[in-house]
Amino acid sequence: MRVGLIGWRGMVGSVLMQRMREENDFLGIEPIFFSTSNIGGPAPKESGDGSKLKDAKDLKMLAACDTLISCQGGDYTTEIYSPLRKSGWKGYWIDAASTLRMADDAVIILDPVNADVIRDGLTKGVQAFAGGNCTVSLMLMGVGGLFKSRLVEWMTTMTYQAASGAGAAKVLELVKQMEYITVPTRATPSENALEVDRMVTHAQRDSGIPTKEFGAPLAGSLIPWVDRPMPDGQTREEWKGMAETNKIMGLHPPVPVDGICVRVGTMRCHSQALCIKLNKNVPQQDIEQILANSNPWVRIIPNNQESTVRCLTPTAVSGSLNVAVGRLHKLKLGPEFLGAFTVGDQLLWGAAEPLRRMLGILREHLGN
Ligand code: NAP
Repeated sequence: MRVGLIGWRGMVGSVLMQRMREENDFLGIEPIFFSTSNIGGPAPKESGDGSKLKDAKDLKMLAACDTLISCQGGDYTTEIYSPLRKSGWKGYWIDAASTLRMADDAVIILDPVNADVIRDGLTKGVQAFAGGNCTVSLMLMGVGGLFKSRLVEWMTTMTYQAASGAGAAKVLELVKQMEYITVPTRATPSENALEVDRMVTHAQRDSGIPTKEFGAPLAGSLIPWVDRPMPDGQTREEWKGMAETNKIMGLHPPVPVDGICVRVGTMRCHSQALCIKLNKNVPQQDIEQILANSNPWVRIIPNNQESTVRCLTPTAVSGSLNVAVGRLHKLKLGPEFLGAFTVGDQLLWGAAEPLRRMLGILREHLGN
């Protein structure tokens, strides 16, 4: 199988490369690497000694691949996908971007949760497979068992999303901001917390702080807005919560899911505070069992301070395929209201992992 990789040096693409190398996914395929910014530059070693990066906008070159995996972003998919199909290309397109997710002829891929939908799609001739929104995928990896058991009446999700969820350039800006706001505290060291706070706040509000990417200081702060506006006051990130959850799980009628999505100054990992309205009073022990049995990567974190502080943070979870679910308890709102907090690495289960696993499922399907 000739597999074209586009966007392999970005945030998602780099993690995809790392995972594919770790899992020996390059064995038995012929990888071709594309670029939008460095055509003719050296390609990764997997494509053979001396091979060069191909032009990611060259439809003929793309069409020479049996499968294309794009981590390049939505604008690229919007520009290339339709013309490529119109040119007669019949290959498989696997994408990290949101562009194709809601299309009728595309399947959202998260195989630990919806392998049946993916295999059914392949059998029916579906050729477009899109990774889900990172926050939605991580939420379903954590509490999808409750949806599968048809126990959820509705859910709110309040998110704490990492800078790396918005791409490589944003991560670099966050770190530059961190550096910028601590310069005064190093120039004039003080043990007076109020004085340190004043210096940091002053630096955050200083016009010199780099904000080209985020539009505001994120270091030492947060931004309660992710993605573009939608009607009725939602952002598109918030809209995806309900739309994608129901499509991935194949829920009819749809289960309402909504909340507020917030960008925070963490490097990696999206966290979410969930309020789940169950359709009956299920004992907490049973809930924990359903969650723990739903897939091999769920980690139930006991609802106590020591375990929470040690295991339920972006720092603890970053770089791991495990999705931590903790703070599980019935809320004072009533016995059918479950509180939960989840943390997962959005570059792994939220992005790269479903893509590389989809390639594996495809190869198995094609006997390749
Ligand atoms: P990204 O880091 O911005 O990378 C996308 C492309 O930007 C790269 O392939 C590269 O293209 C170019 N680029 C520009 N400056 C770069 C730099 N300093 N370092 C590396 N690459 C740079 O975007 P991403 O976060 O990987 O996201 C890709 C797609 O996945 C998007 O559609 C996004 O919505 C989706 N997604 C992202 C996440 C996440 O956690 N980040 C999660 C789920 C889905 P060239 O090599 O061609 O120049």
